[in-house]
Amino acid sequence: MELIFEKSRPGRTAFTLPHCDVPEIDVADVIDKGLLREDIDLPEVSEIDLIRHYTRLSQRNFGVDLGFYPLGSCTMKYNPKINEEVAALPAFTELHPYAPIEFSQGSLRLMYELNRYLCEICGMAAFTLQPAAGAHGEMTGVMIIKKYFEKKGEARQTVLIPDTAHGTNPASSALCGFQIATVRSDQDGGIDINHLNERMTADVAGLMLTNPNTLGLFERRIEAVAEIVHAKGGLFYCDGANMNALMGITRPGDLGFDIIQLNLHKTFSTPHGCGGPGSGPLGVAAKLADFLPVPRIVKTADGYGLSDDCSDSIGRMRSFYGNFNVMVKAYAYIRSLGAEGLTRAAQNAVLNANYVKERLKPYFDLPYDRPCMHECVFSGQRQVKESGVHTTDMAKRLLDFGYHPPTIYFPLIVPEAIMIEPTETESKETLDAFCDTMIRIAEEARENPEQVKSAPLTTPVRRLDEVLAARRPDVLWKG
Ligand SMILES: *Cc1c(COP(=O)(O)O)cnc(C)c1O
Repeated sequence: MELIFEKSRPGRTAFTLPHCDVPEIDVADVIDKGLLREDIDLPEVSEIDLIRHYTRLSQRNFGVDLGFYPLGSCTMKYNPKINEEVAALPAFTELHPYAPIEFSQGSLRLMYELNRYLCEICGMAAFTLQPAAGAHGEMTGVMIIKKYFEKKGEARQTVLIPDTAHGTNPASSALCGFQIATVRSDQDGGIDINHLNERMTADVAGLMLTNPNTLGLFERRIEAVAEIVHAKGGLFYCDGANMNALMGITRPGDLGFDIIQLNLHKTFSTPHGCGGPGSGPLGVAAKLADFLPVPRIVKTADGYGLSDDCSDSIGRMRSFYGNFNVMVKAYAYIRSLGAEGLTRAAQNAVLNANYVKERLKPYFDLPYDRPCMHECVFSGQRQVKESGVHTTDMAKRLLDFGYHPPTIYFPLIVPEAIMIEPTETESKETLDAFCDTMIRIAEEARENPEQVKSAPLTTPVRRLDEVLAARRPDVLWKG
């Protein structure tokens, strides 16, 4: 496909202006010479070329509005468009962030109520909506852990993290100055209790656990784990990015967690990925509520307000109040589904993942064979052994059939990992068609491995150097 620069022809424009009916002036007379840019070499194209170019580019993209997107650990579900429409209402989008409190009552009320809903869903005492992403919420949580022990006069240095964890967990802890110690998983895919007992000392500030974990498995001994951490005075942190499996069914607070971050841009109706605005609210148990960021949304005698009144607060985590439009979508989602609807969404997410797991089990290695939660993790090791076809080859082959591939090579403890998260929004027909395709690829791997290894065969570009593209992206056009 030609670049827009290559389509450029001198003198073509995509606009027409009416004749100038005022005296013309020379810009150099009114703008400082040093600020004037000449020869910036922008492409010169007609309107129709412009439209075709960007429409074609948009059609080369893939999104959940186009097809199945089973990217594990990302919850790429379809989100009702009505929530986008609600978030786009001018009363929300045109409210100036410096508008006086009296004029912002509706938005403040929405944030206040969303906060209460999240407390209820998670079993926590208080929430902050400020963090702008999951990892940002984690960092907020770890800063609270740090401040909590500082206030108690304890210099705990270490945060425990299971070997199944998302990479952001050790990153957030390290960023706050903690040492990281890893806790192993057992053959069950749960946390190794003996190893946890060994590692959980009075130097440990807390354990960060994802539940369900990144193997898509519920931590069966969750109460025992909480007890071990609490017995040594530690705090128990839940990475709640996988809340899509639990909402309405169980509450992390009831399981013994002291802190949790949610990814509204996974579970609560904002698409994940593409670097768009996200929101990673953080909830805490009552004993940590005074450490939450300020300002807080409070209920006042005549409505809603903002309060900075909190001596133990870790301070502000984000300019203004966070990514408000994401909160509106979460609010609309929660209100429209209600308690029953949220529960059914989680139940169907789990049902769909188990359906895919059972259908694909005969064809791919399943390292942890027990009922899964919202996602299932296979290993492509059988295919490697039988025919030298790797997981990455099978993922590329899926592109030929119009599917976004699952997450691959994560979690790290599963060799050749294939992590499938179908989500609740897909029909049985879609799941069946995807499973049929996966089974067909498993057959191809045996019978015609070269075909799989050379995939994708039908995409505009074939195999790219992904490392080079990520590490040294070359986006500068040099004509
Ligand atoms: C997605 C995810 C995160 C990180 O969330 P971001 O919003 O991308 O920072 C953290 N932990 C788990 C388990 C996740 O799936």
